[in-house]
Amino acid sequence: MRAKGKSAIPECFRHVIPECFYRESRSSILRQAQPFDFAQGGELVEPEGERSRAIRTHAAPPQRCSAAFGARSVDSRLKHVRLRPFRRPRKGLSSPETDRVSGRLRRSAASLHAGMTLLLIPFILIFGFTARAETSRLKIAATIFPIADIAKQIAGEEAEVLTILPAGANPHAFELTPRAVKALEGVRAVFVVGHGFDDWIKTISESLPGAALLNVDEGIDLIGDKDKDPHYWLALTSAKTIARTIAERLGELEPAEHDRYQANLDAYLAKLEEGDQVIRNISSHLASRKIMTYHDGWRYFARDYGLEIVGTVESSQGNEPTPKRLAKLTQLVSRHRLKVLFSEPGVSKDVASSLAQDLNLKLHVLDPIGGRDGPTRSYLDLMVVNARVIGEAIGDE
Ligand SMILES: [Zn+2]
Repeated sequence: MRAKGKSAIPECFRHVIPECFYRESRSSILRQAQPFDFAQGGELVEPEGERSRAIRTHAAPPQRCSAAFGARSVDSRLKHVRLRPFRRPRKGLSSPETDRVSGRLRRSAASLHAGMTLLLIPFILIFGFTARAETSRLKIAATIFPIADIAKQIAGEEAEVLTILPAGANPHAFELTPRAVKALEGVRAVFVVGHGFDDWIKTISESLPGAALLNVDEGIDLIGDKDKDPHYWLALTSAKTIARTIAERLGELEPAEHDRYQANLDAYLAKLEEGDQVIRNISSHLASRKIMTYHDGWRYFARDYGLEIVGTVESSQGNEPTPKRLAKLTQLVSRHRLKVLFSEPGVSKDVASSLAQDLNLKLHVLDPIGGRDGPTRSYLDLMVVNARVIGEAIGDE
């Protein structure tokens, strides 16, 4: 039997079984391990099906998988074994072709048999080890990308950190789908912004009682009297406080990892400090401090970096300006000699550019959420890129 395909590494641990084990012991597998699914817990059956071992693990991303198997060891030591997703045999399997294959398999299997029993041992060791690593892998989430990315910096690569709001979606008008809730199964904590911003997350409490909703606003000097402005992540000064809060909460969730989280926090705080200096440097050289934004989400940024928001197009999120408001915006533009309007990715380009034209302003785009590939793939990059957009739009002194 030849190993087919260029790689013996399966895509993930789920539904994975060495093909010849599967073929050779198909009947016992069907009897004893239906379905053969490591995510649900399955049984790895030896050729005779006599000894088996239950394995429970989560799906692993491909890189973990190949690392765990070791590409070379699979190819060289298990060269007669091809790994493939487990599928139930279709009817009509006993065709002359498959009989011929089975005959060949039986012959190869006989010669391989002794070796395979030995080969199973590393499999069991690997799977057993991975099973332990996977079940203890911390799974957490955050409603929006900036908070998820901060959490990832603290929790480290070992943790699985989900961003709930899809890239490009409007957080102010989002609803959780059943699919999104399903993806959150096993999440122990969800970091939320609060203050009405991501209230849509509250619906998970019923379906996922094990997921704690943890607000990250602690210790932040919030803008607003009765209704607080929730866009507080849009300043690196706030991000430092958010990072400290997340490190504390993660340390409470996993006391054994407390020191590691604190070390990650310290390293990340240093990076945030650097980014903060970059943004301060950019904003200190602006020709003007006055800006007009489309959506009223930049007050924290303005406060911390010395800008003045003289007007916003939307009175509140999603409301297009009335003629009365447009007239007022026109006044503001001339009074403050504005030259630029800062829109956002969520705003229709046509709407934003026709408005900018009406107001005789150049249009630039700030991104409050990020989470896409490219130059804003981390929260810190996102913030620095936004500062650069402002710097280039307004120009140097
Ligand atoms: Zn907003």
